[in-house]
Amino acid sequence: MGSFISNYIVIVALSGVLSALLALFAYFKETDFAGVKAFIVSTCASAIYTFGFALELSSHSLAEINLWLKIEYLGMPFIAPASLIMVIHFLGMERLITRARLIVLGFIPCLTTVMVWTNDYHQLFYRSMYLRPLSPAPLVDFVMGPGYIVHGSFTFGCLLAAACLMLAQWNKMKRVYRRQFLTILLGLTLPTIGSFMYLIGKTPYGMDPVPVIMSLTSALYIWAILSRSMLTAAPIARSNLFESMRDGVLVMDLSDRLVDFNRAAAGMIQGLDAASIGHQLARIFLPGGKDAIAYAMEADPLVQEERELQWENGDSIYYYEIRSSLVRKRGGQVAGRMIVLIDVTERTLLQDRLRQLATMDSLTGICNRTYFMERSSELLERCLKEGGRLSIALFDVDHFKSINDRYGHGCGDSALRHIADICRGHLREGDVFGRYGGEEFVLCLPNTSLDEAARLADCIRRAIEAASLESPNGRINVTVSFGVTEAVPGSTLEALLTEADHALYASKRGGRNAVHLSAGSEMVRFQADPAACIGASADG
Ligand code: GH3
Ligand code: MG
Ligand code: MG
Repeated sequence: MGSFISNYIVIVALSGVLSALLALFAYFKETDFAGVKAFIVSTCASAIYTFGFALELSSHSLAEINLWLKIEYLGMPFIAPASLIMVIHFLGMERLITRARLIVLGFIPCLTTVMVWTNDYHQLFYRSMYLRPLSPAPLVDFVMGPGYIVHGSFTFGCLLAAACLMLAQWNKMKRVYRRQFLTILLGLTLPTIGSFMYLIGKTPYGMDPVPVIMSLTSALYIWAILSRSMLTAAPIARSNLFESMRDGVLVMDLSDRLVDFNRAAAGMIQGLDAASIGHQLARIFLPGGKDAIAYAMEADPLVQEERELQWENGDSIYYYEIRSSLVRKRGGQVAGRMIVLIDVTERTLLQDRLRQLATMDSLTGICNRTYFMERSSELLERCLKEGGRLSIALFDVDHFKSINDRYGHGCGDSALRHIADICRGHLREGDVFGRYGGEEFVLCLPNTSLDEAARLADCIRRAIEAASLESPNGRINVTVSFGVTEAVPGSTLEALLTEADHALYASKRGGRNAVHLSAGSEMVRFQADPAACIGASADG
């Protein structure tokens, strides 16, 4: 028995050396495996535990044993939770590691250590401890206190959770990673079995076999690191790919309840977290917007249709392309569906900006000339085809050059914006308003007769005349001159614009601040009824 104990001490010390080596290996190895820190914690803790145990075995008195036990408990309680964290990283399930869980995983081992060190005062960990009678070497037996039970349950719970997580992922694990997988699984289960046997009193001489088993598992890890490049890369399990996708993915079951989601989806949908699993789709999309729910509900997953949706997340608006497709089991039966969300916010905003630049006048925000011509041509074509009426009104700011000269170009710009704003207030649905040239504006008025167009023009003219512009150099009074014409069968937009221009010059020649109609070859001054636009000018 004496030589058995000395051999045992040697093996336990060797186990400590191997754990320390393993920790050093892992520390100096360049790796992108995110779980390497947890691995180092677990191996350092194992080293402390096994060295402490070796020294406990070589002790001669209860007091010495008690001291080394305390040293062991500086490491041992941390082995299981650190292993669990390492396994979670290995499986690419980092989503499970929340702040609160990390706090619990760290708090219980710390509490255990404190309890062991202060046990003499409360006996909550060991109710009593005594040297085993008739033992060839000084071995202790003890009566467990509640602290010991909590610590034991927590340790077994962590190891069991890690083993279960690994077994549940076995099918998803790529073949090349299965050796690493087995190594970790053995590293977890062998010490667990050993410590279970010890607790039920089925180990030789009632000795704790865990440190010896750990010398085996440490050797196994070292072999795996050296020969199988373990720790060099995180396993590319399917779940890792799923997690690292930039697109958000939601997996729903047949009753449209959430089964799984990836990190990107959690970033896109406010409030989506582990607690959302099992919830109905409508509840998950609630903050996103009704459109998204409606689409996700209606979309026929057999048709690979794409739809672009806009929804708010916090203060910002995001644009997502959303696709829905069926998920099938191996046998081909439908198991649910997958909703993929692709963030197209940047692209959509850029497209909007480009569209704006291509169609808008940057000073006034109304249509630029090219876009005005494009839209008006379409309206004219439709009107001629359908036999409707369409009028064109062109207007030019009177003596604008003198505004620039007197008040400066900046004030001139403000005056143009002011005029555009007033005019915009008079527009009806379907009217097109554009900047035709420097200080010339143009209106295309569908479903509008010459007389109606002239009345509208006169209302705008009055409104501009009435609303002088405030400037740093005083009030600026501006007036405009209009020329109005109506399309007849065979009219072209260019011809209409030329006619309107002639009418406009008739207004200029007639003293400005007036509306002239082009009626055939004649230009007629429009005699307005001042009461006609009281209501209209109010909203300008
Ligand atoms: P009329 O009553 O005969 O139309 O006289 P006018 O002074 O308005 O006519 P003219 O064509 O001589 O002058 C137009 C002026 O508009 C000349 C040009 O410098 C100015 N202008 C054109 N575009 C802009 C612009 O974007 N901003 C400013 N501030 N001025 C502009
Ligand atoms: Mg002018
Ligand atoms: Mg001009």
